[in-house]
Amino acid sequence: AEALPRKNSHGIELTDPIAIAPLQEAVEKMRGKHFLGGPIVDGVMDKAEEPVVNPATNEIVGHTANTDKHLIDRAYTSATEAQIAWDRLGGDARAKILDKVADLYEKHINDLTALICLEAGRTLNDGISEVREAVDFCRYYANGARKHFSEPQQLPGPTGESNELFLSGRGVFVAISPWNFPLAIFTGQVVAALAAGNAVLAKPAEQTPLIAARAIELMHEAGVPAKVLHLITGTGAAVGQPLIEDPRLSGVAFTGSTETARLINKQLADKEGPITPLIAETGGQNVMIVDSTALPEQVVDDVIQSAFLSAGQRCSALRILCVQDVIADNLLNMLKGACDELTLGDPSKLETDIGPVIDEKALGLLEAHRERMQREAKPLFAFDEGKKPGSGTFFGPQVVEIEDFSLLEREVFGPFLHVVRFKAEELEDVIRRINATGYGLTFGLHSRIEGRAHAVFKRVHVGNTYVNRDMVGAVVGVNPFGGQGLSGTGPKAGGPHYLFRFADEKTKTINT
Ligand code: GLU
Repeated sequence: AEALPRKNSHGIELTDPIAIAPLQEAVEKMRGKHFLGGPIVDGVMDKAEEPVVNPATNEIVGHTANTDKHLIDRAYTSATEAQIAWDRLGGDARAKILDKVADLYEKHINDLTALICLEAGRTLNDGISEVREAVDFCRYYANGARKHFSEPQQLPGPTGESNELFLSGRGVFVAISPWNFPLAIFTGQVVAALAAGNAVLAKPAEQTPLIAARAIELMHEAGVPAKVLHLITGTGAAVGQPLIEDPRLSGVAFTGSTETARLINKQLADKEGPITPLIAETGGQNVMIVDSTALPEQVVDDVIQSAFLSAGQRCSALRILCVQDVIADNLLNMLKGACDELTLGDPSKLETDIGPVIDEKALGLLEAHRERMQREAKPLFAFDEGKKPGSGTFFGPQVVEIEDFSLLEREVFGPFLHVVRFKAEELEDVIRRINATGYGLTFGLHSRIEGRAHAVFKRVHVGNTYVNRDMVGAVVGVNPFGGQGLSGTGPKAGGPHYLFRFADEKTKTINT
């Protein structure tokens, strides 16, 4: 079958008061309500007793639970059995169901956005973008299923021989997703695995089980069989081992820290039986180079967008800004002016630019980093602490100057920007230092020198390069997203090769 014509989702226009009214109503209606995000096995939610906290207010928004080992075992039994029929349905039939998931997400964009905001502290703007991205993942992978998983590919051969290549699901996939895109990344992994013909045990971040539970409900409503898709909630410590060690596991899709990816890889390697593949999308130490030909106003806008919005909690976010020395003072002055204008606070208010960081632990890590940078780096400017909300886990943007990248051993996950000055003749050295970090997720360049973009692009070992724009917000089918080295195994999410990693390939050769 052929892929259908597809357009990315429009979402809601935030500047249109009529379009935005139902979203604001949804937030108000859902505020103070209590949501359940316990495990869902065979379509039934188990009890949920652990509190889930809104990071903007510290209020309890719902309850979740660490999934019991026996329940995980049951999910495996059910999924292993149901996967066979799901795979046999074929790409076309699965695509219809996944398109229906997209339709349901669009229909519920207001309450999904509101729940993302209340559970994860994401701004309404971020929430809307996330629902759009999730919708795009559904339709994009549905199309991939239609195109590649419906009919076998006919291959050439000598006269009297027929050759065919078949793609099918591998079996049961575990999809482990992070809290920073609690709907989009969760949906992207699950839907890709389903599209390719797998059953899925989905394990959302322990901070964001409520939106995940809602997503699973909508997927079931769209027609994904309850025995094919299960929700396994809980902390990595509680449910990681039974999920990974089960002999019926056929593959893992993971997005999160490099350390956790290594740990999962090790657990998989030590298992008896088949070799289980891991698809990992991990952290970054993302750099933007700004040379003396850049347009400073645009750079300021793109730095704010890339480093501070979403509270810097994107793995694509800008962490190290390398500015050519001759323009550095001017640029940093302008950046300070722009930072002073940012609004930190209630993510459900339209005027808010930056919401909270996810929890106390994340806040503690950022505060410890700030303390360390006060000793070991040169603080340039910081958000006015007096303008911070009284409750909630808020952390204002910070900008410090560092001598060398080596001061940062690991990713700092928040609105924390490190500035490095370089001289014109040091550009090559900057590129060498970027590659030496070992990470390779996103990279930005601001330069008006023709040819520089192409030359630098070839040299940086990075998955996503953005020139003369911001470096976040990869769009499905437009900027396939994912990194190299310490940043991940590939393939790229929202790209043309993603589904193949979730599949088994078989050839059939017949001497006729
Ligand atoms: N795809 C997102 C972006 O381009 C980042 C995903 C992540 O943070 O894991 O900004």
